[in-house]
Amino acid sequence: MYDSIIIGSGPAGLTAAIYNARADMKVLCIEGATPGGQLMLTTEVENYPGFPEGITGPDMMQLFRKQAERFGTEYVTKNVTAVDFSGDIKKVMVGDDIYETKTVTIATGSNAKWLGVPGEKEFQSKGVSACATCDGFFFRGKEVAIIGGGDTAMEEALFLTKFATKVTVLVRKEELKASKIMQDRAIEHEKIEFLWNTEVKEYMGTEKLEKLKLWNNKTNEESELEVQGTFVAIGHTPATEIFKGKLEMDDVGYVLRKENSMTSITGVFTAGDVHDHRYMQAVTAAGMGCQAAIDAERWLEENHGKFE
Ligand code: NDP
Repeated sequence: MYDSIIIGSGPAGLTAAIYNARADMKVLCIEGATPGGQLMLTTEVENYPGFPEGITGPDMMQLFRKQAERFGTEYVTKNVTAVDFSGDIKKVMVGDDIYETKTVTIATGSNAKWLGVPGEKEFQSKGVSACATCDGFFFRGKEVAIIGGGDTAMEEALFLTKFATKVTVLVRKEELKASKIMQDRAIEHEKIEFLWNTEVKEYMGTEKLEKLKLWNNKTNEESELEVQGTFVAIGHTPATEIFKGKLEMDDVGYVLRKENSMTSITGVFTAGDVHDHRYMQAVTAAGMGCQAAIDAERWLEENHGKFE
C-alpha cells in the first residue's frame, strides 16, 4: 500500500513526488510509457529559475526524476490503464497490475494539438513550436507566423511582437474565435497581419524552417510565406481519457480542483497542465505539484483513521 501514487512525470508529477517522498511518504510515480511530459520535446529551457545558462528539456526532467528518486520515489514506466476511486483505498491499474494507495495525484498533463501536415514533426524545435512564451525569445528580429484564431493565438501574436519584426496570423475561417478585446488588440497592432481563410499545407526548409506552403480555402489558391518561426496555437487536449466519469472535469476535460488542490474525490489531487490551461509553464506546473503534495500529506495526516 502506497501513501501517494502520482500519475504523470512532467514537472508537476515529479515535484509532487519530491515533496511527498521527502515527507517520508511511500511514493510510487507511474511515469507513463514515454516519461517526462512535454518538456521532452523542448530543446532549450531558458526561463526556469535556477538555470542561468539554460538547460534542455530532457536534461531538466532527468534532474527532476533523480531528485525524486533520491528521497525514495519508486517508478513504473508504463501507462495507467484504469483507476478505481470508489473506496477510501484507491486503486490504480497498469494492465494486470493493481497498485493500492491512500492518495493519488493526477498530473498527466495535456498535449498541444498539431496540424499533422508534412514537415511539422521534422521542424519542431527548428522553427516550429506550440508555445510562444517558451520559444518566442529565439525569434528576435525575425518574421513569424501564428496558426489559430482563438484567445491563445491572439495572446501569442501580441507577445511575439516584442521580438519579431512581423507576425502573420493564419486563420482558417473568415472570422476569429477569440474574445472581442483580444481581437481588437491584435487587429490594431501594427506588426500583426492577418491572412484569412488560410490553411498551412506544408512546413518547408532545409536545416530549419524557412517557409510555409499556404492554401486559401476560399479562392483555392496556393502561396508561400517566408518565416523563420511558426507557432501552432489551435488548442490543447488534456490527458484525461482514463478519468472520464470518475471525477469532475470542465466541459473540455480539464480536471477541476474543488478544495485547494483536491479534486471532487477526497484523497485525489491534481496538478499541472491537466488542470491548468492558462499558464502551462514548467515552473507553474512544478508549483502546483508542490501544492498537491502538501495537500495530500496534510489530508492523509487528518484522515489516517480511514486506513487503520
Ligand atoms: P480555442 O479552442 O479557443 O481556439 C482554437 C483556434 O484554433 C480556433 O480559432 C480554431 O479555429 C483554430 N483551429 C483549431 N483547429 C485548427 C486547425 N486544424 N487548423 C487551423 N486552425 C485550427 O483554443 P485556445 O487555445 O485559443 O483557447 C483555449 C481556452 O483558453 C479558451 O476558452 C480561451 O478563451 C482561453 N484563453 C483565454 C485567454 C485570456 O483570456 N487571456 C488566453 C488564452 C486562452 P475555428 O474557429 O475555425 O474552430
